[in-house]
Amino acid sequence: MARIAIGGMQHETNTFAPSRADYAAFEAGGGWPAVQYGEPVFGAVEGANIPAAGAIRALRAQGHSLVATAWAAASPSAHVTTDAFERIVGGMISELKKQLPVDGVYLDLHGAMVTEAHDDGEGEILRRVREAIGPRIPISASLDLHTNFTRAMFERCDALVAYRTYPHVDMGETGARAAGLLDAMLKRGERLAKSYRTLDFFTGLPSQCSFIEPCKGIYEQVGRSGDVTLSFTPGFPMADFPECGMAVFGYGVDADAVSQAVDRLHGAVSDAEKDFAMELHTAEDAVARARQRGAPGTPVVLADTQDNPGAGGNGDTTGLLKALISQNAPDAVFGLLIDGEAAKKAHELGLGFSSTFRMGGRSNIPGDSPIEGEFTVEQLGDGKFTCTGPMFKGFRMTLGPMALLRSKTAPGVRVVLASRKVQAADQEMFRHLGVEPRRSRILGLKSSVHFRADFEPIAKEVLVVKAPGPALADPTEFKWTRLRKGVRLRPLGPAFQG
Ligand SMILES: [Zn+2]
Repeated sequence: MARIAIGGMQHETNTFAPSRADYAAFEAGGGWPAVQYGEPVFGAVEGANIPAAGAIRALRAQGHSLVATAWAAASPSAHVTTDAFERIVGGMISELKKQLPVDGVYLDLHGAMVTEAHDDGEGEILRRVREAIGPRIPISASLDLHTNFTRAMFERCDALVAYRTYPHVDMGETGARAAGLLDAMLKRGERLAKSYRTLDFFTGLPSQCSFIEPCKGIYEQVGRSGDVTLSFTPGFPMADFPECGMAVFGYGVDADAVSQAVDRLHGAVSDAEKDFAMELHTAEDAVARARQRGAPGTPVVLADTQDNPGAGGNGDTTGLLKALISQNAPDAVFGLLIDGEAAKKAHELGLGFSSTFRMGGRSNIPGDSPIEGEFTVEQLGDGKFTCTGPMFKGFRMTLGPMALLRSKTAPGVRVVLASRKVQAADQEMFRHLGVEPRRSRILGLKSSVHFRADFEPIAKEVLVVKAPGPALADPTEFKWTRLRKGVRLRPLGPAFQG
């Protein structure tokens, strides 16, 4: 039995996004539990599909005694502020020092955090944890699939393992896998062999989904890796720093087996480059097609990918909603539109009342503007509910005042408003306001891929829509300045020239 310190900090940073993550963003959590220090970490993550929760369960099952340092997460956005990073990581390190000596450390990290001071937030966390515990104690960490894997992370951590699903239905399982690697190192009394390689092209989020090729086949290969624990991270191509991009990495007892498995996986991803290309639809074309093909019971789902709050959007752009209204879409539900002022106004008006609403479009996104029109308040909610879908199962939402509005000019169109941003990836976000998603003909969702876990089973088809937003689906469209020279900005696409 070993004494193990656990902790974590998750943030996915889109350096082009409109808002930064300050300390209040980690107190709000953005759908995740609020920031916690010490013992309360255990209660905060318990019962949810969170890597730390999976690791805690697995480590306890192996008979280890656990102490908690700090755990925090916030909605994806632009940079984590220095104040937030220093308070959270400072708290983590001081809790860790109180608990020393420990035999091992498990960390629940994202892998794509950029702070105001550090391009590689996780590399900096690992540096400080290593400094606190000394060179001999093993550290293992779980990572998001959207990790921008760095040399510092590879060097400063003894075992890293990433999710193998997008939508991330295996977050808890990945924490347990990282715990297993830590347990293996403690039992053997030595570190594992490790290897990593990067790839030289980017691909947008919609084509990283593990339900569809080429990622489906690649993750099957990752899962068949035997004694080598492999990961493939297609990256988060929205962070402007030299190590942004895709990687493969692996850990195991046999150094030759590890490097061969990593090389084979690297080859498989390289060979699949052309298969990552994906068809995107304009909002107008997508709504026109959905009007013809959607039916109650089998809705067509329109993914408003470029304003995905899970990739740094504020969830308030209006391009897809405007297309639904201008085409008078029948039985259409759009959500979540994040606008606290509009939700507050709906609560002040009350059920059944109508008024002119001016909603969304507050983030100064090129090509976007607020939507204005007459709407009726059909339902109100306090934003407190627990998710039930495969990915967010057990997540306790606190989205602030919510409202369901119906357009007067296009009476088939309803809008779900929330006050705090979260990606529309769980049907409970709609049921909270009495909307059963399956009964609509068209669902417009502010999500890139995570919605597929809970919504694809009820969907006739999914169309990925390119409407205004800060999370560009085609990485060539960002104004990159700091990438490494030669990286192709999309599959088989133009290379960054510096
Ligand atoms: Zn992710």
